[in-house]
Amino acid sequence: MTAKLIDGKAFAAHLRARIGTEVAAMKAQGITPGLAVVLVGEDPASQVYVRSKGRMTREVGMNSLEHRLPADTPQADLLALIDRLNADPAVNGILVQLPLPRHMDEAAVINAIDPAKDVDGFHILNVGRLATGQKAMVPCTPLGCLMLLRAHLGDLSGKNALVIGRSNIVGKPMAQLLLRDSATVTVAHSRTANLPALCRQADIVVAAVGRARFVQGDWIKPGAVVIDVGINRTDDGLVGDVDFDSAAPVAGAITPVPGGVGPMTIACLLANTLTATARANGLPDPK
Ligand code: NDP
Repeated sequence: MTAKLIDGKAFAAHLRARIGTEVAAMKAQGITPGLAVVLVGEDPASQVYVRSKGRMTREVGMNSLEHRLPADTPQADLLALIDRLNADPAVNGILVQLPLPRHMDEAAVINAIDPAKDVDGFHILNVGRLATGQKAMVPCTPLGCLMLLRAHLGDLSGKNALVIGRSNIVGKPMAQLLLRDSATVTVAHSRTANLPALCRQADIVVAAVGRARFVQGDWIKPGAVVIDVGINRTDDGLVGDVDFDSAAPVAGAITPVPGGVGPMTIACLLANTLTATARANGLPDPK
């Protein structure tokens, strides 16, 4: 048996189309959502991300505002820009592209963003709200993974879920979201003992490790749903954190790389911008 492919690209296209319809309805009421993306420096991967974020923002009918600052920008100047964006009613979402240059304090910069405009969901208040079950802005990549899991499994309650990776942007918020959906969650990291055995017990595996083809097919419980967050550039092109060729025959469903989680991340950024706009204007949260 071969796993069902979870088509994140198609799912994300549907999501963006739905967002486009909601944006059109908001525009009819005189509200145009605006997303400001701030890029400091010239990291090539970041430039690609920022460009595609801008394009997709415009495609759904939102205003896209890009701010590019040189790598040697003093942190005070970046904070001053964030202050202006916080105060600007035309800006509903603010995203500061990470990583920031070394001379900057990432946490200080993120926590300077108005939490209501923090569409990345990295502000300490949103992290705390998610952890305590309050209404939060939820980080885009784990939110996208959750949507794919719900679409394929329906109810996640009681499922054994293994999240491999404990970063603030993927692993930890992913674990929170799975817990919120009543899965039984294990979070693995570089010090975890006997990872293959843990993995063999998991109905859901989310791999966010940053190592090409790390998770092997013989670690996968037959029928498990495997979500591969990894984006690794290798000589054979982009590959995930899961060894797709050995995992696909065992898994029940699996995301490809590319075309799985990646497109969901940007679609969820737009979804968060829409939510932030609705909340700023006293409208109900979009579905
Ligand atoms: P980080 O490097 O911040 O975190 C990696 C995590 O993997 C760490 O918690 C680390 O453990 C753990 N890890 C490393 N080696 C092992 C090991 N041998 N066994 C078990 N765990 C291990 O990465 P990110 O979370 O930022 O990203 C993970 C991957 O997802 C990357 O490939 C990245 O490119 C991709 N990504 C994709 C996105 C998308 O849109 N599809 C968005 C964001 C990221 P420890 O904490 O102990 O060091």
